Amino acid sequence: MTAAFSEEEVHRPNVIQLVGVTKSYRNLNVLKPVDLDIKDGEFLTILGPSGSGKTTILRMIGGFTPPTSGRILLRGADISQVPIFRRPFNTVFQDYALFPHMTVAKNVAYGLRIRRRPAAEIKTKVSAVLDTVNLTDKAERYPSELSGGQRQRVALARAIVCEPQVILLDEPLAALDAELRRSMQEFLKDLQRRIRTTFVFITHDQEEAISMSDRIAVMDHGNLVQVGTPQEIYYKPRSEFVAKFF
Ligand code: ADP
Repeated sequence: MTAAFSEEEVHRPNVIQLVGVTKSYRNLNVLKPVDLDIKDGEFLTILGPSGSGKTTILRMIGGFTPPTSGRILLRGADISQVPIFRRPFNTVFQDYALFPHMTVAKNVAYGLRIRRRPAAEIKTKVSAVLDTVNLTDKAERYPSELSGGQRQRVALARAIVCEPQVILLDEPLAALDAELRRSMQEFLKDLQRRIRTTFVFITHDQEEAISMSDRIAVMDHGNLVQVGTPQEIYYKPRSEFVAKFF
């Protein structure tokens, strides 16, 4: 189990705040009012069974879909109406969503290219990031020539190269087999420590959440039922649902 927050970490500023955020699709209310503070530099996991509303929260933070009511703040400023491409976040999806016709280096460079960064900067950053995810020797390969774990690392490289303030991870390990999943869990946690960026990670796997997170937000049927360190959630569950879930 990871260590609880240190004194310094407890007082970290919030990078994202959800204030009374709800979501309804037509008449169906899938998210009850959610208040959630995400601290700068933490690894926060949203954990819950399928259909509990995890992806809905992540998609609203990322700007893929607007909240029905409530506000989303970035360092205190309301970004609820800010379009997706202006939000300093990047998302890693379960299926990686790599471009099959582009090499690894071109996939990673894509975000910098569309932001019209100078060629020299792109080259330096892509090379540094490929080094960070241990893929320097695969730079000129295509996604179809890579293993699942390597593809996953390309997706991570593509997300971190633009230096987003927050990286959103939508069940990124779900498609991997058990052994690879464990090694990617370690890789991801280590990566987060090295680049010191806030990670918001979704999973329905309790063990994964406990081993990787600084804090866990537990969802049940559209309700955020408890937020705390893995120790707090495990040893001091606030409801029968949380106790049974673990
Ligand atoms: P999770 O990520 O925890 O599996 P989701 O956030 O994907 O849960 O879904 C929460 C609820 O919202 C589910 O009941 C799901 O069916 C519903 N839902 C998600 N997206 C839509 C949509 N586009 N239209 C209607 N209902 C949706």
